[in-house]
Amino acid sequence: MRQRLVAGNWKMNGSLASARALVGAILPGVGGLKSEVAVCPPYVYLETVGALLKGSPVALGAQNVAREDPGAFTGEIAAPMLRDLGCKYVIVGHSERRALYGESDALVAEKYWRALREGLVPILCVGELLEERDAGHTEQVVARQLDAVLTRSGVADLGRGVVAYEPVWAIGTGRTATPEQAQEVHAFIRGRIAGHDPSVAAGLRILYGGSVKGSNAVGLFAMPDIDGGLIGGASLLAEDFLAICRAAG
Ligand code: PEP
Repeated sequence: MRQRLVAGNWKMNGSLASARALVGAILPGVGGLKSEVAVCPPYVYLETVGALLKGSPVALGAQNVAREDPGAFTGEIAAPMLRDLGCKYVIVGHSERRALYGESDALVAEKYWRALREGLVPILCVGELLEERDAGHTEQVVARQLDAVLTRSGVADLGRGVVAYEPVWAIGTGRTATPEQAQEVHAFIRGRIAGHDPSVAAGLRILYGGSVKGSNAVGLFAMPDIDGGLIGGASLLAEDFLAICRAAG
């Protein structure tokens, strides 16, 4: 049985005060959940948020990680530094990183490999653009993004991370994939990994991301291959985020 995961991606939002307030409002609502909950604040708030999360069931995650070992890489943050601050998870290959910062499949695969080597659990984001979906290329795109990681790290390592299917057209747009549309791609992802190793595929958590709210989370999480969510906008308001966590159970 796969434990569901609901992870909040705060992106580049908030302030020190609002980060503290958000954690303070989330913590009282997470007791008794069977699902795992994580929050991924901006780098500069990781230490503060991590301290507030200590002893709670909520895990800490980062939104990005350097491909390199620590060294002369101005402005980058290395995986051991994230471990130092108590991070369990790190998001790699978010579509904003791919689209706005030119991260290639190969670079994302390197970051995935590096994160795992340093004891972090990477959350690998994959997903197609609207024009790719409209052209019928969804599976081809998702397969290419997955295969980059499979080639670099191997299927056993893919099983040590988490995959998040995030159709780019659904991110921050208010336009969610229907549960059926999402399930179709989740089943494709699991099937493709099963082609390498059925037991890894069976145990792998595949999250859905893209305009998830309390109101649509129940339908999405009811799908057999959807194991939770990666939540952007709705993770910035404690009530909205907690509604999603409760939907995960
Ligand atoms: C995301 O950025 O990972 C995301 C899913 O954003 P939103 O929930 O705002 O669509």
